[in-house]
Amino acid sequence: MAVSAPEQNSSVRRFFQPDLKVEAGGRLELAPETSHHLTRVLRLGAGAPFELFDGQGRRRHCQLEADGRHAKVLACLPGEKPQLPIELIQALPKGEKLELILQKGTELGASRFILSTSERTVTRIAPEKVVARLDRWQKIIQQACQQCGQMFPPSVELHPQLKEALTAATGSLKLMLWEKATTPLNQLLPGYPPTAISLLVGPEGGFSAAEAQAAQEQGFLLVRLGSRILRTETAGLAILSILQYVYGDFCPDPGVAAQLHGEDQS
Ligand code: SAH
Repeated sequence: MAVSAPEQNSSVRRFFQPDLKVEAGGRLELAPETSHHLTRVLRLGAGAPFELFDGQGRRRHCQLEADGRHAKVLACLPGEKPQLPIELIQALPKGEKLELILQKGTELGASRFILSTSERTVTRIAPEKVVARLDRWQKIIQQACQQCGQMFPPSVELHPQLKEALTAATGSLKLMLWEKATTPLNQLLPGYPPTAISLLVGPEGGFSAAEAQAAQEQGFLLVRLGSRILRTETAGLAILSILQYVYGDFCPDPGVAAQLHGEDQS
C-alpha cells in the first residue's frame, strides 16, 4: 500500500533518533525519551503519526505501535540540505544565559557552538564537570531541534583557551563582535554568501584590546552593531538573525546580500 507522507508538514512532531537507517516497512525501538514524550506527555496511542530524524539528513515518517515503545517506518522522507554553516564562538557567560544562547541559537540556525573562556570571563568550569556539562548542553540543543524542526543539531564543544577557540573557527567570513569597533556590519558582509561564517561574542565584561588583536590575527573582522551596548546573550542572537536574513533561510532572495553593496539586481 502506498503511503503518502507530507514532504514538509510543520505540524508533524519530530524527534531525534540517532543513526536512522531503517527503511520503509521496517520497525524500530524508540529512544526512551521519545517514547515517554509521545505516550505520557502528548498522550498519543497506537497509530499516531510522527517523524524521526537523525541529524545527518535522514528523516522517517513513522507510526506509533501499541506498546508505545516501537514505531513502524511508513516512509523515508527526502533529506534536507544542510543550511549555511554558522559557528558561534561564545565566551562563557554567567549562569543560565548560556542555556538561553544554546536554545535560541539553535532556533536561529547556528550549526556549531564553540564555548571558551576569555580574560574577563567570570564563569569557569572545573575539568571534572566538563563531560556532564557537555551532555546537558547537547540535551538543550536536541530539545530545541525537536521543538523548532531543525534537522541538523548543532555541535557543541568547549575550548578553555580563547586562542584554541579562535584557531578552531573554520568560517570563510569571520566576525568578532566588538563594541569598540568602528566598522558597521554592512561594510563587512560580502555580496555573495560565504561558504561558512564564524562569529565571536565576548562575555559580560567584553573583550580586551589584546584579545581583539589576537582575533584579528586569526582573520576575524571587528564589527560594531549599532550605537547601543548589547548584553552578551543578545549580541549573538542579533547577528545570527541578521545573517539568516542576508544569506540564510529568513529571506530566500539571494539578491539581498548584493543590495547591501548597492549592486543593481535588475
Ligand atoms: N562590558 C562591555 C560590554 C560587553 S557586552 C561594556 O560595558 O563596554 C558583551 C559582548 O557583546 C561583547 O563582548 C561583544 O561581543 C558583544 N556586543 C555588545 N554590544 C555590541 C555592539 N554594539 N557591537 C558589537 N558587539 C557588541
